[in-house]
Amino acid sequence: MPNALNFSGGPGALPDSVLAQTRDAIVALPETGLSVLGMSHRSAWFQSILDEAEQNLRHLLGLSSDYAVTFLQGGSSLQFAMIPMNFAAAGVAPPEYITSGYWSNRATSEAAKVVAARKIAWDGKSGGYRQLPALDSLDIARDAAYLHYVSNETVEGRQFPAIDRALPVPLIADMSSDFLSKPLDTTPYAMLYAHAQKNLGPAGVTVAVIRRDLLERIPDGLPAILDFRTHVTHGSNYNTPPVFAIYVLALVTRWMRADIGGLAAMQRINEQKARQLYATLDELGGAIHIHARQQWRSQMNVAFSFGDARLDDAFIESARERGIVGLEGHRSIGGLRASLYNAVTPEAVDSLCEALRAFSLERV
Ligand SMILES: *Cc1c(COP(=O)(O)O)cnc(C)c1O
Repeated sequence: MPNALNFSGGPGALPDSVLAQTRDAIVALPETGLSVLGMSHRSAWFQSILDEAEQNLRHLLGLSSDYAVTFLQGGSSLQFAMIPMNFAAAGVAPPEYITSGYWSNRATSEAAKVVAARKIAWDGKSGGYRQLPALDSLDIARDAAYLHYVSNETVEGRQFPAIDRALPVPLIADMSSDFLSKPLDTTPYAMLYAHAQKNLGPAGVTVAVIRRDLLERIPDGLPAILDFRTHVTHGSNYNTPPVFAIYVLALVTRWMRADIGGLAAMQRINEQKARQLYATLDELGGAIHIHARQQWRSQMNVAFSFGDARLDDAFIESARERGIVGLEGHRSIGGLRASLYNAVTPEAVDSLCEALRAFSLERV
């Protein structure tokens, strides 16, 4: 098993039990005697894995049959382009985007390359991306193609509260960094998506959950691979899918159901981890700056700094000596970031808090 504690922003930590099964599967799958890396995507075994991965997601989310579940490639970044290609159809007003941080900025600027017009519904730039808007206070055109937002800003460590009522326009969310970290009422959403490498598995696969009525808006003439209907029709097996990544995703979602006991249990663990780390940072106070305003603090990504790049680097080094890694802040804002994804254990957070206290006593 890994001999360091991984707080990386992504790809991130995976459960030890999943890593052990994956290690064995690389040599030979118990069900087939073949390496998972050499399994045909047309095999009955892989079909059973696709089915299980979908069933696990449907079960965890309580997803109705109104939604299709697809497994795609190209990461969340491809979704930034595919969504406007598919859903900013003629005859409706331009899509609207909430620009609340690094990743939603990327989504907004990619959309501008695909559609003639798109509207910025809210822009947090002037506030240094430290706060978030209330979604139902925004002035969105009633006939907007959709409203896009990022549920958890991974870089700056800010998270929207749960959306508990329907909006008048189709709501589309990039949930890459907080998907399956807590229960989710999917009914307000027309589409949500998340790549695997933060909470679900290794890089290489992106889950997209799409309400079926939205598929009717897709214009004809898109390249097949960029048309969501292709992936729905072919059950995410149109061209060669990332067999390995989907296999690990099936194991992670199996772990969430069988070992963790579902999303409410996952939330309790995640809340406790976040509470402990923020409490430690608040208690050490003075020297430490947390990037997000209190109200918007993310449970998944804690972006902070000692206010001095040399101290931040010294902390990274002293944590590394304790076997704690992945604390470098995103290159766009620097500082430090501890990511508390589902597979990061409460014990790992204990170790991080201990390292913070020891460092503060000694150096700050
Ligand atoms: C990490 C991240 C991305 C980038 O995804 P890729 O799979 O690398 O394209 C997009 N959105 C959010 C919210 C992220 O956290």
